[in-house]
Amino acid sequence: MTNSTDTTSNQSLFNAASVHIPGGVNSPVRAFKGVGGTPVFVQKASGAYLFDAQGKRYIDYVGSWGPMILGHAHPDIVQAVIAAAADGLSFGAPTPSETTVADLICEIMPSMDMVRMTSSGTEACMSAIRLARGYTGRDKIIKFEGCYHGHADSLLVKAGSGMLTLGVPTSLGVPKDLAQHTLTLPFNDIEAVKACFKEYGDQIACVIVEPVAGNMNLVLPIKGFLQTLRDECTQAGSVLIFDEVMTGFRVALGGAQAHYGITPDLTTLGKIIGAGLPVGAFGGKREIMNCIAPLGGVYQAGTLSGNPLAMRAGIAMLKLIRAEGFYDQLAMKLSFLLNGLKAIADDVGIPLQVQQAGGMFGIYFTDSRDLSSYEAMTQCDVAAFREFFHGMLKRGVYLAPSAFEAGFISSSHSQADLEETLVAAQETLIEMKA
Ligand code: PLP
Repeated sequence: MTNSTDTTSNQSLFNAASVHIPGGVNSPVRAFKGVGGTPVFVQKASGAYLFDAQGKRYIDYVGSWGPMILGHAHPDIVQAVIAAAADGLSFGAPTPSETTVADLICEIMPSMDMVRMTSSGTEACMSAIRLARGYTGRDKIIKFEGCYHGHADSLLVKAGSGMLTLGVPTSLGVPKDLAQHTLTLPFNDIEAVKACFKEYGDQIACVIVEPVAGNMNLVLPIKGFLQTLRDECTQAGSVLIFDEVMTGFRVALGGAQAHYGITPDLTTLGKIIGAGLPVGAFGGKREIMNCIAPLGGVYQAGTLSGNPLAMRAGIAMLKLIRAEGFYDQLAMKLSFLLNGLKAIADDVGIPLQVQQAGGMFGIYFTDSRDLSSYEAMTQCDVAAFREFFHGMLKRGVYLAPSAFEAGFISSSHSQADLEETLVAAQETLIEMKA
């Protein structure tokens, strides 16, 4: 029996956390603002499950926002981290394991001739943009509405009023003078991209895009969108950056670039390569990467970059996900879950759509078939999602606590887990309909 005076209840833990941690969390989406209620405080995790401090079990479809593609506490990864820890936690000097990770990444993603490790996806994206600016000698960047590339100043910017206007900050503390260099366009709007290049082409340092957007729910690129970005960047001499922090090793082993057959100039990575430890990376064409310090004049650094624990965990991870059939099985599991969910919703009579890209997915409370834009995402029924989220949570299924985030499955999710999830969904949807 839970009561809020119990110090192990989520409410008590949240109250305690809120004393010295702003909002009780170290990253805003964890605070459940998008769905209301109290965050789950995780005590431990194993395979497909999270456990809170009272031992309640949840089937996890967040997977630390993507990295846990093998499930939690996979024995090979844990072993690699223990062995690495015994050899020392950080040296501030190069290690052979960094070379192994770089070699593996460049082999799996042939668009990359060279790669530099960072400690987060934010750093990777921020550094890739600085590199593109340094390489081209230009200031302006293009990004897309609804895409997230971390919290660097240039990226916390939305479109000004009207098309082709200069950007305005979306966060306090971002200087207007900096925001004006960020042009924000609608995702999947081919004509807007062409018009923007026509107007600003020779000033554009780079385009940064999530090739499959996973930070506004899941939005797939429409036919021709990524190719247009490639063509316009090539023509204007701008750098095309694929932010594959989420999609890398997730949509397919070689990421979205392999799946869609489009070669970016630079790629940013994170999440899966660290197996759950803090890691990011950016890499690409040798000619561009040669501009980074100490080879070139674009400064980029990090005391903990290429951390030995993260590298050795990453090597173990990359080995396991390269196994024959790994991605086919992952995608098949997810299709079973999503098809089941759609059939249940249709049966109960609640408008719901589903979409999948490899091991990531979107659930949309709408009867519209147009799921291709940020605007379409904002028209989904957020109140219905909230109700669904809490119904699932109550029944031991942990979904992303926001209608505007993708979901993730792992190889640890068993058929029984998927079936248990569908039973929870059926009960929840029936409850919502009543
Ligand atoms: N890029 C994308 C596509 C992301 O999804 C994220 C984080 O969710 C980032 C960049 C930022 O990565 P990090 O949170 O590791 O700084």
